[in-house]
Amino acid sequence: MNRRDFIKTSAGLTALAAAGPLAGLASAVAAEPPRSRKTAGIKVGAVSFVDEGTEKVLDILQERGAIDTVYLTAFTYGRGLAGRQIPGHPFPDHGAQETDEKFFHGGNYATPHLKFYRETVLKQTRAPDHGDLDIVATVLPAAKKRGLRVICSIEDVFRGDVPGVKEVLEVDLQGRRAGGLCLCHPEVRAFWTGLATDLCESYDIDGILFFNERNGPLFNALGASHSQSIASSRVTCFCEHHQRAAKERGIDFERARQGYQKLDQFIQAALKDQRPGDGYFVEFWRLLVEYPEIIAWDRLFDAAKHQVLAEVNAAVKRVRTGLQVGFHLEHVNSFNPIFRATRSYADLATKADFLKVVVYNNCGGERYANFIRNVGSTVFRDVPKEELLRFNNHLLNYGDEAKLEDLATAGLSPDYVFRETQRALAGVQGKCRILPGIDIGIPTGKNSRKASPEDTIAAVTAAIKAGADGLILSRKYSEMQLTNLAAAGRAVREAAK
Ligand SMILES: [Zn+2]
Repeated sequence: MNRRDFIKTSAGLTALAAAGPLAGLASAVAAEPPRSRKTAGIKVGAVSFVDEGTEKVLDILQERGAIDTVYLTAFTYGRGLAGRQIPGHPFPDHGAQETDEKFFHGGNYATPHLKFYRETVLKQTRAPDHGDLDIVATVLPAAKKRGLRVICSIEDVFRGDVPGVKEVLEVDLQGRRAGGLCLCHPEVRAFWTGLATDLCESYDIDGILFFNERNGPLFNALGASHSQSIASSRVTCFCEHHQRAAKERGIDFERARQGYQKLDQFIQAALKDQRPGDGYFVEFWRLLVEYPEIIAWDRLFDAAKHQVLAEVNAAVKRVRTGLQVGFHLEHVNSFNPIFRATRSYADLATKADFLKVVVYNNCGGERYANFIRNVGSTVFRDVPKEELLRFNNHLLNYGDEAKLEDLATAGLSPDYVFRETQRALAGVQGKCRILPGIDIGIPTGKNSRKASPEDTIAAVTAAIKAGADGLILSRKYSEMQLTNLAAAGRAVREAAK
């Protein structure tokens, strides 16, 4: 089904987009235990409450968005979850209409309590953006009064000048310190469990949503995610903790390093159009056959990432068993079949109460196109890119999506949202809830798809029709037009009838 057909078959919903906001329903939206109804959540950063006022933002979320859960950004140094609209993109029709570049910093927007960080060097992470403001202490009582649930979002995005960070950074292929924190490092793991415990013990919140969009060395080498560049010479992590973890699993460190050096040579030669005698794909596959350590080392990264999730889950449940832990499953899981093979929904379902599965369809077009261009410039360089896209669509069980040159402007269809939601539900087998992340105005390139109210209604409806347990409006409130938020709210209310 293409976008147009989908909207047509979603009878009456297009008309809903034009209807006025349903006022007075806010009080009817009360917090209820999980599974009893389809939950509608939204991600919001501290700056929105500061700019627009806590009560006013909550009014808007409840009345227009039919929101019952606020995913409040408590920790990140990134702009995906915190801050105003990212610089260079038009401001939405609410909030401050100027960039926050002067004061945006990031960190812990709540109050870090030192006793939870005894086992880590990462003790000083308080976000200075809004002075002494503690965003969880500010929003939580106001939200509770309205019956809204509050789940704190924490994200693995750091900056280099955070005290202690330099001691726990990853080490790359050449032995240089890299930019990300090593997830095998005991002090990094202690930070995540400490942070989750701190938030759950210090505040009467409803749970934690953990974000980590980082990839292992194989995917970084290939540039196999949406916004990544091909970085085969800088892959990580080869630090002492990784070497120890490898030894425990019987993986040969030297062979892994050699394998990644050969992979780097292969990628760099491909980018220079130096075709191997057997072609690009065969040469790549031969590398994996001769150096299975390449895959094994990439698995080490995934194992550490998911171990941190399991540890955060256990830490939160130690505070209170009823607290919810969610995990954000990034976009690459949708459009990269090789990445898909590294993710088992059944396994993830044992480590979280809910999965926020990214099914962003508007920005999905340009992201998917970028992935095709990246892998089409190395491993699949022998395949014309349009054919590669079609082939990939079959592998991914995508329906009738746009051609490569049109993909960014067309976006992916609501049918894509439907299929990816169904795949996730089939994968978890009812063992954890699936809350698709719905794309509402995620910044895209100048000529790329931008969300409209009709797009939003179609995506929300597709997710619900597929059987989702609810949804999470994404990426964050400070990027969304209120008309789109209201469209999502109308679709949620319509589906609840
Ligand atoms: Zn490491």
